[in-house]
Amino acid sequence: MAVTDNAALRFEDVTRVFLDERGGSITAAEEINLTILEGEFISLVGPSGCGKSTLLRLAAGLDSPTTGKVWFEGRCIEGPSPQRGLVFQSYNAFPWLTVRENVAFGLQEKGECANGKVKEWLEFMGLSEFADSFPKALSGGMRQRLAIARTMIVEPRLLLLDEPFGALDETRRDSMQQLLLKAVRQTKCTVILVTHDLRESVLLADRVVLLKPRPGRILKVIDSTLAKPRTREQMKTPEFLEIYELLVHSFPA
Ligand code: ADP
Ligand code: MG
Repeated sequence: MAVTDNAALRFEDVTRVFLDERGGSITAAEEINLTILEGEFISLVGPSGCGKSTLLRLAAGLDSPTTGKVWFEGRCIEGPSPQRGLVFQSYNAFPWLTVRENVAFGLQEKGECANGKVKEWLEFMGLSEFADSFPKALSGGMRQRLAIARTMIVEPRLLLLDEPFGALDETRRDSMQQLLLKAVRQTKCTVILVTHDLRESVLLADRVVLLKPRPGRILKVIDSTLAKPRTREQMKTPEFLEIYELLVHSFPA
């Protein structure tokens, strides 16, 4: 592969075809070519069934393309790795472990250093008080923060988020977005966020990738050039509205 020096993830002519129950086939992703730079924040948007989750699963190494290749830091992805962390909407935590144990789970190292890291992430995500509770005792927002802490503690180079805030109400969503941006700044990871909230996609990302379904293809890539750090106030600016309107008008009917 011709390596772009600062490329983190690259989809190269990726097509993923699934067989349905009746023996037909569904092209979830077709001829996807996309290079994501190190430290870049990408939002993936598009109607249901356009292949967003499929692309995340391919990047996570939980699935393989039918044809084409997915590269991460110059190597062809062949399976999952803690370097590429996936967070989805149905909060991924082990119900039989406490909040603290859940956060510590992925850490290879043990001992004082590990304890320090766990403490730090619990504090960062506002979960210290609930360290010894079980996930079922947490609210939706707290569970989502737990899911992010579990994934981020191993300092993944690539963070894959599949509609992580979909179940949260508007005010919780806002504080979760800010927390996410802070965690991303701290770890300098590359991010792909799948969201159905178009405003969120523009506010958080450097580029918004719009997909269309049947077959799942990239329809448009839109730069979101707003100044950083991003805040909710920017959603009232003409710059924001211009990008947002472009996205809305490009969205498949
Ligand atoms: P999105 O996340 O954008 O809603 P998905 O990536 O989940 O879309 O799915 C894209 C298309 O591929 C859909 O039509 C879906 O039904 C189909 N699909 C996804 N995964 C499978 C699978 N494991 N088996 C069969 N069809 C699948
Ligand atoms: Mg999906």
